[in-house]
Parts: sequence; structure tokens; C-alpha cells
Amino acid sequence: MRQIAIVGSGPAGYYTAEAALKQWGEGVSVDMFDTLPVPFGLIRTGVAPDHQSIKGVSRRYEATALTENVRFVGNVMIGRDISVTELQDFYDAVILATGAPNDRKLGLPGEDLSNVFGSAAFVGWYNGHPNFADLDPRFSHDTAVVIGNGNVALDVTRILAKAHEEFTGSDIVTHALTALDASRVRRIVVLGRRGPHQIAMTPKELGELAHLARARPLVDPVDLPGESEDAVLDPGQRKSVAHLRAFAAAEPRADREIVIEFDFFASPKAIIGDQRVEAVEIERTRLVDGKAVGTGETYRIPAGLVVACIGYQTSKIPDVPFDEKGGRFANVDGRIRPGLYCVGWARRGPTGTIGTNRPDGFAVIEKVAEDMGDGTGKPGRPAFDALAGKRGIHYVKFTDWQKIDEAEIANARQGAPREKFVAVEHMIEAAGRG
Ligand code: NAP
Repeated sequence: MRQIAIVGSGPAGYYTAEAALKQWGEGVSVDMFDTLPVPFGLIRTGVAPDHQSIKGVSRRYEATALTENVRFVGNVMIGRDISVTELQDFYDAVILATGAPNDRKLGLPGEDLSNVFGSAAFVGWYNGHPNFADLDPRFSHDTAVVIGNGNVALDVTRILAKAHEEFTGSDIVTHALTALDASRVRRIVVLGRRGPHQIAMTPKELGELAHLARARPLVDPVDLPGESEDAVLDPGQRKSVAHLRAFAAAEPRADREIVIEFDFFASPKAIIGDQRVEAVEIERTRLVDGKAVGTGETYRIPAGLVVACIGYQTSKIPDVPFDEKGGRFANVDGRIRPGLYCVGWARRGPTGTIGTNRPDGFAVIEKVAEDMGDGTGKPGRPAFDALAGKRGIHYVKFTDWQKIDEAEIANARQGAPREKFVAVEHMIEAAGRG
């Protein structure tokens, strides 16, 4: 029996478990650890609450979770409750699938002012991640600035712009819905330090902005390159730019009370304010060899909320080498050191779609198979269970999660699929393990 520990139960973790089952069938035992008592990582707390169809992929992960040879071990933090070295003593292979849950810093003056957030925190807040349930963002100013031109910037913009009714069918947590209902934000400025041809927004997600009930996207035609220049783009980018062109050409609509302004060639230089953010200072840029270069022209946008959606980094774990520049574990094709691997965003950084993690999971299992052969004779589960007993680690199983799941579904407000617990102790109580 090969003994494998996967740390992290998000998409990368589950695709890796699926790959291990394909590779060894009955000959493998997988323990999947998670800091939270609930599985599915980014699917639960990263994917936008109004994108329920994407969240449906968790049913596939559930099928893997329910197989005999895979066990969920929730509410256990590797690096705090048990070290990576200890895990390596118990399991033939330890695979870190911990994602990239921390915000990259802007590195600008004023970044720590009140009501300035990174997207990991802000998205975690509206998605009910226990670490960010108390974030308490304020929506009392009429202007919000969203920094970045990726899909997370689109998610945040859409959530800020939607009316109450547009959240029907979503699992946005009630604390966020209540705060957004009272929001006075009427202008959302989306800052891109480069131009329309350099956006990292995908067409489907960008196109959604045209169908919001009370908001309209606005693009200054001056920022758009000549239409013939779109020929150099790949088909996906071309579709995205076509949306921007349509936004630029659309007639103003008096019935839209919120405006979403795309401000291209705009690089933030400082966040201004006393205690709380009052404005963002921006430098106009131009493109030189595809890079944003400051022109020296600056201006300020008065704003009461800033969300920086500029990418994420992996959490460090003691004794695991880290690539500071890449914001992920130092690795070569998923190998960190003998018996220790990483996969998904923890391996390659925060890029690609959820589906990108599937080939990633299969690739890392190939490496594990090459290195491990018939197994290295490690004790696996019983050794972890003995240590957990000694240390008083009360882990949560998949059957416990199923009870939490049932309770969340039962607690749903009308029209919502669930009401998430946002405190770990409430999750544990719902599992009946208080
Ligand atoms: P991303 O796609 O890498 O976009 C980050 C954006 O931040 C880029 O526009 C980047 O501009 C900008 N940026 C970086 N540093 C900056 C700085 N110092 N100042 C100003 N702007 C800065 O990252 P993301 O939006 O966080 O998304 C992460 C991954 O999740 C992506 O693969 C994304 O597609 C995926 N995702 C998918 C969905 C979906 O499919 N529905 C939803 C959410 C996320 P430059 O290009 O100039 O560097």
C-alpha cells in the first residue's frame, strides 16, 4: 500500500487524489488534510458566489472523497498541528496543494490605510471564509477603486455593482449581502496599468458586465487601439477586446445608477488618506515593449474603498523551501525534495482556470510514481491517528462535513442554496463534534 498525504482539499488536491486512484487503484491510501473543517478550498471561498455553475465541480470531488481509499482530515493545520517533516515520516509522499491564499502586496505608501483590501481578504469576506468574516468593509463613499485587470477584478467589480435581486440563487453570505444592500458606491473605477490589449479578463466574465441590472461599463474610445490591431490577439483576447469596444460604443443609459469606468494606462502610485483611504494617486502610463512605463502625469481619484486584485501568493510552511519571487514553493516540475511535492497554484503560482489543475494533478502523480516505485514502507494513517490522539488533534472527517453541509443547506435564506457558517467553532458544532 502506498501512503500519500495531500495537504489542501481544493481543486488541485482533489484532482491529485483522483490521479492517485487512477494510478494505483486499491493500492493507495490518501489522507487529504485541510486547515478548515470544510473541503473544496477555492471552490467554496474563492469562486464568486454568483457563479454557482462553476461551484458544481465540487460534486466531482465528492465522488473522489467518497471512495474507500481517500480520507478527508479537516481542521488540521500542517506546520502548526503537525510538521511537514513529521508527515514525511508517516507517508511515502506528501503533496502540498495549498493554493495561494495570501494577497500580493502593492508595495505603495498608504496600502495599510483602513478600507484598503487585497482581493483574497475581500473575496474571502463575501464568500464566508472564517479568516475574513470580520473584515467589515465600509461602502459609505460613492467611489470604489478596483486595481487590476484580471478575472478577480471582474468578480469584485460585479459583486460591488449588483443589486440585491441579482444575488438570488447565489451563496453570498448574509453579512456581505446586508452590507452591500446599504452600499452607497455608485462609481467603480477599474485601474489597468496597461491597455485593453493586455487585459487578463476572459470574454465570458467580461461580457457579464453588459447585463447588470443597475450598472453599465464605460470605456473611453481613446484608449482602444485601431480595430485592425486586434488581429494579433488570440481568439479569446479578441473576444474580450470586442466587449470593451462594445462598452465604448454603447449609448449612455439614464436607468443605470452605477457606472463601471475602465481606466487604462493607469498605475497606482499611492493611497492617500489620514486613517481611512480618501483618494488614490495614479500615474498615467504608456506601453514600451509591452511594459507600462510612467509618463510623469499624475492625478487623483477620490475614493472610500480600494480593492487590489493583483494576484496571490502561497502561504509559507516551516521547513519547506520557498520561491520568494514567484510567491510559491521552490520546486522543479512539482518536486521539492525527495518525498515532498507541490501541485496547482502552490507549484506554478496563481494562473489558469480550475480545470488547469487536473493535468497538474496527473503530472505530479507521475513524478511520485517514478520516485516511489512500490512504496517506501511508511506506516501512513495509523501513525497519524496515533499522533493525533496523543496531541489532542480532533480532526473532522468527510461524514462530519456532510453534516455541516446539510445544516448550511437547511439554514439557507430564501432563494439561496446555503448559508455558510463563517466561524470554525460553528462548523464543528454543526458536525456534532463540539
Ligand atoms: P491575474 O489574472 O494575474 O491578474 C492580475 C492583474 O493585476 C493584471 O491585470 C496585472 O497587470 C495587475 N497587476 C499586478 N500587479 C499590479 C500592480 N502592482 N499594480 C497594478 N496592477 C497590477 O490575477 P487574478 O485576477 O487574481 O486571477 C488569478 C487567476 O484566477 C487567473 O488565472 C484568473 O483567470 C483566475 N480566475 C478565473 C475566474 C473565472 O474563470 N471566472 C475568476 C477569478 C479568477 P499586468 O498584466 O500589467 O501585470
